[in-house]
Amino acid sequence: MTTYREEFRRSIEAPEAFWGEQARRIHWETPFEKVLDDSRPPFARWFVGGRTNLCYNAVDRHLASRAQQDALIYVSTETGIERRYTYAELHAEVNRMAAVMRSLHVKKGDRVLIYLPMIAEALFAMLACARLGAIHSVVFGGFAAPNLAARIDDAKPALIITADAGARAGKVIDYTPLVDEALSRAEYKVPQVLLIDRQLAPERLQAPYLIAYEPLREQFFDACVQCEWLESNEPSYVLYTSGTTGRPKGVQRDVGGYAVALAASMEHIFQGAAGDVMFTPSDIGWVVGHSYIIYAPLIAGLTTVMYEGTPVRPDGGVWWRLVEQYRINLMFTAPTAIRVLKKQDPQLMQQADLSSLRTLFLAGEPLDEPTAQWIQGALRKPVVDNYWQTETGWPMIAIPHGIEDLPPKLGSPGVPSMGFNLSLRDEQTGDICAPGEKGVIALGYPLPPGCMQTVWGDDRRFVDTYWKSVPNQQVYSTFDWGVQDDDGYVSILGRTDDVINVAGHRLGTREIEEALSSHPAVAEVAVVGVADAVKGQAAFAFVVLRDADRLNAPGVREGLEAELAHTVDTQLGAIARPARVHFVSMLPKTRSGKLLRRAIAALAEGREPGDLPTIEDIGALQQVKAALGAGG
Ligand code: ATP
Ligand code: MG
Repeated sequence: MTTYREEFRRSIEAPEAFWGEQARRIHWETPFEKVLDDSRPPFARWFVGGRTNLCYNAVDRHLASRAQQDALIYVSTETGIERRYTYAELHAEVNRMAAVMRSLHVKKGDRVLIYLPMIAEALFAMLACARLGAIHSVVFGGFAAPNLAARIDDAKPALIITADAGARAGKVIDYTPLVDEALSRAEYKVPQVLLIDRQLAPERLQAPYLIAYEPLREQFFDACVQCEWLESNEPSYVLYTSGTTGRPKGVQRDVGGYAVALAASMEHIFQGAAGDVMFTPSDIGWVVGHSYIIYAPLIAGLTTVMYEGTPVRPDGGVWWRLVEQYRINLMFTAPTAIRVLKKQDPQLMQQADLSSLRTLFLAGEPLDEPTAQWIQGALRKPVVDNYWQTETGWPMIAIPHGIEDLPPKLGSPGVPSMGFNLSLRDEQTGDICAPGEKGVIALGYPLPPGCMQTVWGDDRRFVDTYWKSVPNQQVYSTFDWGVQDDDGYVSILGRTDDVINVAGHRLGTREIEEALSSHPAVAEVAVVGVADAVKGQAAFAFVVLRDADRLNAPGVREGLEAELAHTVDTQLGAIARPARVHFVSMLPKTRSGKLLRRAIAALAEGREPGDLPTIEDIGALQQVKAALGAGG
């Protein structure tokens, strides 16, 4: 029997042999000439010369053996729609969508920006792009117009695909006004917009630049579109991270390496096999959605359940009933959803027959102990935490149950995945930390298949951002802190940058600060994430006004708070609105002028700010403390 230790060592020491074997999991139209080209660090090219197609591997390849098996079960508790698509039906829908896109002159290498809610057409559109060799760039449907505009300008899409509206928690969100505004804000002029009409906001269909999807779908109902055979290293998609520095990073992914890595992860980590049913309540706008709603389950021949709605509507038992109804075997969501479910009537879970469920996977944020223990106890099934990033595309730390049943350790997602040459590095020296010592989680060159190739259109930024941050070493920085024990288990200790996670939504504190600063009354602002029992984190804003005396006048404080909330709403969306706004007359900073967000967050969470030798003015922290205490 192979052990994790042996397999892992082989994946690091003999990557060509290891990944060459893994590559047999997918279809290659033309075999690759070389497994790895590592001649130009930090860039890596996997399966050089091989030609393949993600859509072919996800759909067409299964037609011979499982055409009548469900490929997609679509459920919306917002609209009450439930639809099933076999692999044959999925194949037909993807061909229709691809034919429509082709009729709109979309071709290989073009970008297609997908701004869609969780509807089946979003999955068809992504696969249709893959089929044509077009590069999809999915933008999370909850983003406000300025976010969308920034991504339009960066991706320069030949086509935007959107819908009349999204729906969340019973509320309809009109998309077309957002798209309208983004198009007028963006410098780049998008030639055309394809509209999927859900009939949720019908009056919007009149906008002149929109092309309605439905009539075109009818026109191309029986269309057959050949798969474009792409060289393994051609780009398949661009997905933007949430962007702490204001300008988001477009993570660019390849074709062949991604397909191989996902297929391998389905066996090594998820233990999902053809015929299994996988339910990943996440969003297609996030990497988890790309990898584990769409590509991995379909490449491996599973049935994927795509869900629009919250975990608590119509009630907190809805997900568990789906598990029963569709005999779901694997489920993958974020800890925040579990914290929400924890507050529900336990009966709701117990009433459902969960016997089909084998494992619950959780990722995206730290899995706190109370949540982990509660869900484990309530489900009585393995709960597998796993750690990764948009950049890596698949879990870099997990328990590889498909290789060896390593025992889980509370507080750790597990051990490095195949091919991830992971080390903990001293922030100051770049040296490898001893076991038990906290360091930056770093990855050696080359990154394994499936990881980002570069930053879209900006190789320099890829190198400078990720590969130059650890001193004296050319290693990839995750910008997360971690610690590794003697057995190789890694615990994640938070991030070196400042992104917060509100109810599963990643928000850059820097972006919120920028929005607040645009208000004319604001001189300076700090936004920090503060632990919140339900949402994971909540944003607290500390605002320095240009004219602090204003606050003494009656009603001014309330008025300003409302205006600031409105400013954030219009620039970033309501999800980014700070839970609390505190007014202070100065902010604590380091000598180099960096805001001490971590110290502020500590105070807000009732902890001591710790060792702060570089603070210029302790008084500023005292102010923060006083403002928190006064509730204003
Ligand atoms: P940006 O890179 O623009 O700042 P982001 O890092 O918030 O955006 P993602 O790539 O979606 O966007 O998130 C990856 C991060 O989420 C990781 O770097 C880590 O901080 C956190 N994370 C993911 N999974 C886990 C986990 N299992 N435990 C702890 N933290 C996790
Ligand atoms: Mg990140």
